[in-house]
Amino acid sequence: MKFCSECGHALEHRIPEGDSRLRHVCPSCQTIHYQNPRIIAGCLPIWGERVLLCRRAIEPRHGYWTLPAGFMENGETVAEGAARETWEEAEADVSDLQLYTVFNIAHINQVYMLHRGELVNGAYGVGSESLECRLFEEHEIPWDELAFPSVKRTLQLYFKDRVSGVFPVHVNDIKPIRRD
Ligand SMILES: [Zn+2]
Repeated sequence: MKFCSECGHALEHRIPEGDSRLRHVCPSCQTIHYQNPRIIAGCLPIWGERVLLCRRAIEPRHGYWTLPAGFMENGETVAEGAARETWEEAEADVSDLQLYTVFNIAHINQVYMLHRGELVNGAYGVGSESLECRLFEEHEIPWDELAFPSVKRTLQLYFKDRVSGVFPVHVNDIKPIRRD
């Protein structure tokens, strides 16, 4: 961020009075431009014994399998965001969404909130951000071709919890991948 979205003046990077963090501050109109984490709403669509995955048609992780998820829009609840993303990526309606996994990804300023949802009538298509969408039984999951750690972890937890039929909300912290 270089220029003030209110008045167009060049921004300064400093700690405002009474604050403890560096902020983008406009020296002309005094607006403080706060930057906060973004929420990604997503869904694990379930149809009987199977779950719906989408193969990504976009970067990052083009060609890898994922769960429908994306940035929340203003004016929607997190469950509404999850349902909207499921429609956009898989042309699938989901009902009875229940929050299931929360991932703090602090190093990239993101919070994932994934829900379990019932796939309505087992129907789905292929959204514009997907190469293909498919229902998978547990033994068919392409574990080595999953796009993100949050997707892998959510699927692992789901198949584990499914044995007991009890699905608590799981909160996880995802750390940077260490390359050493
Ligand atoms: Zn300004």
